[in-house]
Amino acid sequence: MKLSRMHLKTLREAPNEAELISHQLLIRANMIKKEAAGIYTFMPLGWRVIRKISQIVREEQDRIGCQELQMPHPNPSELWKESGRWYAYGPELWRIKDRNGREFCLAPTCEEMITNLVKQEVSSYRELPFQFYHIQWKFRDESRPRYGLLRSREFLMKDAYSFDATPEDLDKAYQLQYGAYERTFTRCGLDYRIVEADNGPIGGSNSHEFSALSAVGESELAYCENCDMAATIERAECVDEKQPEMEMEELREVYTPNTKTIKDVCDYLGLDEKRSIKALMFVTYDRELNPDKYVCAFIRGDRDVNMIKLVNALGIPEHYIEFADEEEMAPVTGIVGGFTGPIGLKNCIKVVDSELVGTKNMCAGANKEDHHLLGVCYGRDYEGDIITDIKTLKEGDPCPKCGNPIKHTRGIEVGQIFKLGTKYSQSMNTTYKDENGDDNIYWMGCYGIGVTRTMQAIVEQHNDKDGIIWPVSVAPYHVIITVINPQDEMQMALAEKMEAELEKHHVEVLCDDRDERPGVKFKDADLIGMPIRITVGRKAADGEVEYKLRREAEVKEMKAEDAVRAACELVDAERFGM
Ligand code: ATP
Ligand code: MG
Repeated sequence: MKLSRMHLKTLREAPNEAELISHQLLIRANMIKKEAAGIYTFMPLGWRVIRKISQIVREEQDRIGCQELQMPHPNPSELWKESGRWYAYGPELWRIKDRNGREFCLAPTCEEMITNLVKQEVSSYRELPFQFYHIQWKFRDESRPRYGLLRSREFLMKDAYSFDATPEDLDKAYQLQYGAYERTFTRCGLDYRIVEADNGPIGGSNSHEFSALSAVGESELAYCENCDMAATIERAECVDEKQPEMEMEELREVYTPNTKTIKDVCDYLGLDEKRSIKALMFVTYDRELNPDKYVCAFIRGDRDVNMIKLVNALGIPEHYIEFADEEEMAPVTGIVGGFTGPIGLKNCIKVVDSELVGTKNMCAGANKEDHHLLGVCYGRDYEGDIITDIKTLKEGDPCPKCGNPIKHTRGIEVGQIFKLGTKYSQSMNTTYKDENGDDNIYWMGCYGIGVTRTMQAIVEQHNDKDGIIWPVSVAPYHVIITVINPQDEMQMALAEKMEAELEKHHVEVLCDDRDERPGVKFKDADLIGMPIRITVGRKAADGEVEYKLRREAEVKEMKAEDAVRAACELVDAERFGM
């Protein structure tokens, strides 16, 4: 491809709203263009990258016997009402109506659509097990679309679905996808970590997240250097710390003026924060988003509440809960803002962190202005309606598996796999006939990869001050031939000869034959990030060129044939990314 014939409008600077280097570079390199919040056009070079990543994804899905099909964007609302997610998915679900007023959503994921399809298409155990996938645009009306392709409202996703007869067979399907994901992200050149994850609104029992390591990633990951424990913060279990043995004291009220925070009251009373009870007040909503119930969550004073664990404990989706207005809730529940404690509360659900069970002589709010209680003992003085782990695992806390101090890191979630179990097959009544002619429910799994998010995660991990450094496996072109003076026939002839040779070996070439200063061409080549640059200049007369890898500083002079050979060898070694 001749660059003079291609549309490429690189920018010296990115718009202010592009905070991340990867977002800035993709815009500056003219790979993506914003059309509306979280909605992008993929320009010619960028689209080639998407095609490369999609192809890697496709090859690895095909390899494990997952069958590609293509399902539509609009999903009839009836399907989503059957599964219950028409309500549970919340405002992220992009709802539309046709001219007759019939409701649809633009699919954010396709469990309903595929389950309904399988209901109609498959009836016999003879077809089991099977898996389907498609690579299709997804729509989520995210509350805060940002960071370019990392959190957009329209994005390309590969989603696969497995159907099995037994939980053991589902395990096998899950393992196949797990392996396919490892190969896919390795081939994309990503440095990633696999962690246990929360199932979230998708449902089911078991899940892993594949996260590209990055300081700017939105996934917070906890891991142990001593054992294989690795989980998202939402999912990571916490070990309850046992309180030292002590005698039960009597319950007593103390005057604690102006001590609305844990720190204030503990400083005032000279107490360790571990001896205090923190109270957090929430209101939950029903599916029509009307206020439903009040919730008080209690954890040890030095801990932070984990919202995902809390909503899981309550059995509601994440968007059905908010911090409560303490003044509104006071007359109903008897709380006093800043001095709330578990004793004497009414008309609210008390969710108590498991660590508090059995604790003695704690300090808690007295539900009375400027007062706290001392000597608060679990069981004697209060109990929880729900008791479970609702705290966040912090860096340095003991590993739930081996006790070693936990480390934290961050990542960009590029893929997630789920064991769904029978959630959708049951709610949508989807069965097959077994050997005896009896109806049986399917065991399902679902498996997602964000293709467009993966593209930007690659850039986030592969760049320098001059621009993008594409891994060979996903580069829009493998080689850029920079012709210093395209008016010089000798230079153009040599460039074209190399281009033809390289293309004969299925090496993809971009030839920069533009009438631009060499400095401009070098800058653009670095910015758009092709893995190999071959420069044709004055020495073309002697058949000599410069050969440079984008990821290395060294420039080598060599014969044109040698440069072609070196490029072919490198591309052959790395085109599959493994
Ligand atoms: P997140 O927690 O980041 O919102 P999710 O867990 O809701 O993502 P899944 O339902 O697991 O996402 O979707 C599968 C994959 O689709 C994700 O692993 C991610 O790579 C991609 N993805 C999800 N939401 C977006 C988005 N708004 N923009 C781009 N890619 C996305
Ligand atoms: Mg996910």
